[in-house]
Amino acid sequence: MIKFLDLQQINLQYQEEIEAKLLEVFRSGWYLMGSALSNFEKKLSQYTGAEHAIGVANGLDALRLILRAYIEMGFMKPGDEVIVPSNTYIASILAISDNGLLPILVEPDIDNYNIDISKIEEKITSKTKGILIVHLYGRVVFSEVLISLVTQYNLKIIEDNAQAIGAEWNDKKSGNLGDAAGFSFYPGKNLGALGDAGGITTNDKKLAQTIRALANYGSNQKYINIYKGLNSRLDEIQAAVLDVKLNYIDEENNKRREVAKQFIQGISNPKITLPEYPDKEKEHVWHLFVIRTNDRDKLQQYLTENGIQTLIHYPIPPHKQEAYKEWNELSFPISEKIHEEVLSLPISSIIKKEDIEKIISVLNGFE
Ligand SMILES: *Cc1c(COP(=O)(O)O)cnc(C)c1O
Repeated sequence: MIKFLDLQQINLQYQEEIEAKLLEVFRSGWYLMGSALSNFEKKLSQYTGAEHAIGVANGLDALRLILRAYIEMGFMKPGDEVIVPSNTYIASILAISDNGLLPILVEPDIDNYNIDISKIEEKITSKTKGILIVHLYGRVVFSEVLISLVTQYNLKIIEDNAQAIGAEWNDKKSGNLGDAAGFSFYPGKNLGALGDAGGITTNDKKLAQTIRALANYGSNQKYINIYKGLNSRLDEIQAAVLDVKLNYIDEENNKRREVAKQFIQGISNPKITLPEYPDKEKEHVWHLFVIRTNDRDKLQQYLTENGIQTLIHYPIPPHKQEAYKEWNELSFPISEKIHEEVLSLPISSIIKKEDIEKIISVLNGFE
């Protein structure tokens, strides 16, 4: 069986270094808000180029905290609108509605699965305060047009960078493109912890201070509470693991690019639509390798029978979820088509050459 993702093998590459760091934390007697966290925050800030980095409990919290901070700072208020792609993972949208803000869904571009920037302006109203862009599947979405839109309408750009750490647009790293970015270090992400973990980057000092307080019960100073905050911390164990793995993220992403290149060169089947390999290859870190076909369920079953595990990202569009009943009658045909047709192939830095070859030949034999 070719696993969709072999996390054990990925992490065992760094076994000695990670175990040494874990032991260090264990023996230190200090498990929260210590040097492992501050070291990782420093490294994440240097890596992305953003001035401030804050470790938090998970990726959803990262996005929730950014939006909540904009509310506390008076830039947004409940009832305001935030634009978001209609085919994103539900967490991007939950972060908006959890803050009493209104998610405004915009269809993606079918060729790269990212928000269609040309469809944003028609959705902007006097209540629009931000655009939550999502670098879906690991591919950066950004453009000069987007920059001029947010300048013209005075909007914040928030990056959902859960899937694209290390990707670049115009020599700038994702996480340093907009006003603030949320990262997830869920174990299966390109930079994955050994449990839940997340982060925020920004060049806005006031925003960073507000987020730090909000994530710490609304307090900058022990027992003095300025906001009705929450508790969202990145613990020392996770920070120590991430501190080791961040050293290797470029190497990991390059290996993923190699696998993607091999798939694209090797897979040739009129029934299968392959993802675009961007001209500027740094724009993609291939968190997922997503193909499309009319007969998705049949293809998935065929691959399973041939010992190849696949997943669907994602089977139900957010506007069809029960959680968003109020949207169930709306129509987003491009999203709906994507959700019906996509299938994610195994891809990682440690996938074996013979497994790549097998996946290619099995796909080429699909009728
Ligand atoms: C994983 C993910 C999240 C949520 O991250 P968690 O750490 O699981 O909370 C948010 N947005 C996107 C696009 C993701 O892929």
